[in-house]
This record gives sequence, structure tokens and C-alpha cells, in this order.
Amino acid sequence: MRYSRFFIPTLKEVPAEAEIISHKLMLRAGMIRKLASGLYTYLPYGLMAIRKVEAIIREEMNRAGAVELLMPFVQPAELWKESGRWDHYGKELLRIKDRHGRDFCLGPTHEEVITDLVRKHIRSYRDLPINLYQIQTKFRDEIRPRFGLMRAREFIMKDAYSFSATPESLDEIYDAMYRAYCNIFERCGLDFRSVEADTGSIGGHASHEFMVLAETGEDDIACCTACSYAANTELAEVVASDEREINPGTEELKKVSTPGKKTVDEVTAFLNKKADELVKTLIFWADKRPVAALVRGDHELNEVKLRNVLGVQELEMADSETVEKITGAPVGFAGPKGLPGEVKVLADHGVRNLKDFVAGANEKDAHFVGLNWIRDIDLPEFHDLRVITEKDPCPRCGGKIEIKRGIEVGHIFKLGTKYSEAMGATFLDANGKERPIIMGCYGIGVGRTVAAAIEQNHDEKGIIFPKPLSPFEVIVSVINVKDKEMLNEAEGIYENLLKMGISCLLDDRDERPGVKFKDSELIGIPIRITVGKKIKEGKVELTTRRDLKTETISKEAIPEKISSLLK
Ligand code: ATP
Ligand code: MG
Repeated sequence: MRYSRFFIPTLKEVPAEAEIISHKLMLRAGMIRKLASGLYTYLPYGLMAIRKVEAIIREEMNRAGAVELLMPFVQPAELWKESGRWDHYGKELLRIKDRHGRDFCLGPTHEEVITDLVRKHIRSYRDLPINLYQIQTKFRDEIRPRFGLMRAREFIMKDAYSFSATPESLDEIYDAMYRAYCNIFERCGLDFRSVEADTGSIGGHASHEFMVLAETGEDDIACCTACSYAANTELAEVVASDEREINPGTEELKKVSTPGKKTVDEVTAFLNKKADELVKTLIFWADKRPVAALVRGDHELNEVKLRNVLGVQELEMADSETVEKITGAPVGFAGPKGLPGEVKVLADHGVRNLKDFVAGANEKDAHFVGLNWIRDIDLPEFHDLRVITEKDPCPRCGGKIEIKRGIEVGHIFKLGTKYSEAMGATFLDANGKERPIIMGCYGIGVGRTVAAAIEQNHDEKGIIFPKPLSPFEVIVSVINVKDKEMLNEAEGIYENLLKMGISCLLDDRDERPGVKFKDSELIGIPIRITVGKKIKEGKVELTTRRDLKTETISKEAIPEKISSLLK
């Protein structure tokens, strides 16, 4: 490819819209452009990187026995009604109507469509197992699209769905997918971890997320420093450290005035208490019923755990108006004592041992102090409801936990029979008995993987592409294209590299050398060959992008040098 004919609109300035480094660099390196919130054009250079990731994914998926197909992006509402998700998926599902007034949606994922396909064609256990995948555009109307391709609304995903007759067969495919994912992310040059992830109402450890470690990640991962345990903090179990008898209190129960003191910090400072002496009360709507969740003042409620304990599809923090209606007080003064009977109260294990604690009085500008379980309030239901912290022990070995940030690039999941039962996807087993097909699903964010690779591979000058992801392997820069001999020589080197099967960009633009060097460093091609004055003596400069080290070599030495560097 000739740079003069290519289209890489690089930017000198850092665009204001970008917060994280990969987003900034993808804009600056002319890889993507924003069309509207969460919608991006993949410019030629960005598309090439995307295609590299796709090619790696295809190879590894095919090798692991999966078969590629391509399903429609627009999906009929009927299928979503059958699975029950038309009502439960929420606002991320963009619903549209066709000219006949029929309901459709833009596919955020394809369980319904693939289950419909398979139920029509699979009859017997002899037709199973099968694992089908596609690489395709998805649409999710994300509440907060950001970070460029990391959290877009329209994005490319590889999604695979497996269908098995037995749980053992699902286990086998799941393991094969697990290994394929490790290969894919290793080949992409990523420093990643596989972690146990939330499985919603299905339960068990039947889900893993593949996390790229990065400060800018949106997920928290609890990693044990002693054993191999690693889990998304959405899931990571907090071991209830103390199941002792309830502590009898000594203080007298009092209602005190706390004018305008709403947050844990404000209330504890005002009352001269510590955060771990206070019970936080959070009001939710769970499938249209009010729920109060109690956690200690210094702990954080884990909404995923709360949802799982309640076994509900929809869980939403109550808005201030509803809180006032339910508790009789504005936000900030809710507490377990004196809540109306219809409110279901659930508490985290961490509040069980509290005595003489502080909590809202369900009255404007008032809190209780000296509250005690049993004496003053009935015991609520206790569950593991909070987010793990570095102070908690590893749930597997009791070792020390570290919280790290991660970018979720892949997710594998044992679905079981959730969709096959809802949609009647069955097969006949060896005894002629009809059974629901056992499913698994396996996703990778393609654009997010490119962004994550840049997040981990860059310096102050720009991108440092891991070789397998780089759109070109070599860039040949001509110092002065007006010097015909110099240009001729550079073209010869370029043609020669192409003949060797090496992907190459020839920077033949009529630009100052400084501009060319800056651009080549920004766009991050692993090797640069600079053709300048020394070419008269048959010499060129070779620079490796990662360490920016330059050496002068003879032009005859180029093929061998490049081959060994690309190995
Ligand atoms: P997240 O928690 O980040 O929203 P998810 O759990 O909704 O992800 P899945 O439904 O498992 O994601 O989708 C499979 C993969 O698709 C994810 O692992 C991620 O890499 C990618 N992905 C999901 N949502 C987006 C998005 N909005 N933009 C880019 N990639 C995405
Ligand atoms: Mg999501």
C-alpha cells in the first residue's frame, strides 16, 4: 500500500472527546471516527486491525471445531417474546417497527435466532453436538457509551452457540472454547486473566470472563495472591467471617436530630461515629416490589448478588420520589426500623454482629443511635450481599485478595436449557425420549480487543502494535520523494518485501521527514525502514517501534533481517 493513495487521517491534537489512551490513539492514528454517540466508522487502517483480530478468532474457532455462519442483524420480536426477553432485556434492546407495523429489534445478541434455527433442524442426539459462530455487528443502546470502541452502541462481536445432548458434551465444548480463547488472546499479544463470572440465575461456576489487565478497565477483579482464584467482584463470594450469637447492646435506643446529614460520611462525622458502626439502607424495586438492602456503612452493596438472591429479572434503585413514598422520608434517612410491612428487608452478613449501631429513622433529618437487633428490630434475612474488598479473605484458600482493574474482552457461559426450554428446542435421546438441548454461548468483543491491545501497548509517541495485530508489518519511509533515485530505491525495497509476502506501507508522501517519522511512530507499525541519503552507499536505517532503536544495514541484508524480526 502506498501512503499517498491510502487514507490515514492522523491528528496532531488529542481530541477532546477521548478520555482513555486507546481511544485517543485510535482517533489520532486515523483508525476510527465518531459518527454519533457510540457509533463509529472504521477507517481503513482501523479496519485492517479489526480484520487481523477476526482472522485470529476464525482460525482458533475453526480449529476448536466451531462452524461459521452469519445471521441477520434485524430480528423479529416474536422470538424475543418466546424467550421472555422482549419484556426483560430493558432499554439496551433497540426496538423498531417495519412498514407493516410489525415489531423488530436490532440484535444485541443472537440466542433467540440461533435457537430458532437449531430447533427446526436438529432432531436426534446423533445430530449433536454442534457449535456455530458468527462475526457480526451488534447493537446495544448502552446507557453510557464511552471510550470509543470499548463501549460502543454498534460494535462487532464474535458470538458462538453450542448445542449438546449431555452435560458432559457441554463441558467438553466449554473447555475447548476456554482453550481457544486463551490462544486467541495470547496471539493478540494481550496480558489477560480468565476469571469466574456471574451466571445470573443459572448458578454454578459455569461462566468465565477473559479480562485484559488495565487501569482503565471498567471491571474489578478479585485475585488471590496465594492461589489461582480470580473472580469478577460482581461474583466474588465474601465469606461470612462471623456467625456468632447476636451481640447484646448496652446503649439506650435514641432518635437524634441529623439535619441535612444524608451520606455515611456526613452522618458519621456529625455523630462522631465510624462508618462500620452504621447500617446503610438502600431501597430498590425488584420486579415491581419494594426491597430494602442493608449493608455496613463502610461496605458496598453488590447489586448482582442482590438480584441473584431475590431471583428477579429487574432490579432498579428507587428514585427519590419513591424512596420518600415508601419510607416517609427523603433519601438519606431510610433505616430498617419502622419500614412498612410490604418492604422486603435483606441484610448483608456484615451487619449481623453490629450492636448499638446507627441507622436512618425513616423521618426527615433523623437517625437512630443505639440500635440493636432483636431488642429493637426483628432480625432480617441475612445473605452475602456486598462487594468483596482487599480486607476480605480469598473464598477458596483464605489467602490475601487483591483488587485489579480489567477490560472484559471475552465471555463464555454455560447456558443450560434456559433458551431451549423456553423455545422448545428439543432432541430425541438414545431411548427415544424428548429432551431440551443443552446450550453454551461464547462471545468476544472484536473492537474492544483491538482497543485493549492498544491500551496495553503504547508509549508517549503512539501505538506499538503487537505484531499479529499490526495492519502492516513494515513501513518504508522515503526521506525525500523528489529525489528520483531515492524514491526508485525505496520502491524496489517495497516491491521486494511484498514479493516476500510481507505486508508493507510505503510512505511516499511529499512531506517533511519529521512528519513522516511522527506519523509512523503514532500508527505503530513494528518495523520502519528509512530510505535516505545513505542509499547511495547501498545503506538504509532500520528502526524497531517498540524500543525505537535504529541501526544502519545494507539493503541486501533487509530480507533476512526483517524475516528474523518478524519471527
Ligand atoms: P459488559 O459487561 O462490558 O457490558 P457484557 O457482559 O454485556 O459486557 P456480553 O454480552 O458477554 O458482554 O458480550 C460479549 C462480549 O462483547 C463482551 O465480552 C465484550 O468484549 C463485548 N461487548 C459487550 N458490550 C460491548 C460494547 N458496548 N461495546 C463493545 N464491545 C462490547
Ligand atoms: Mg453489557
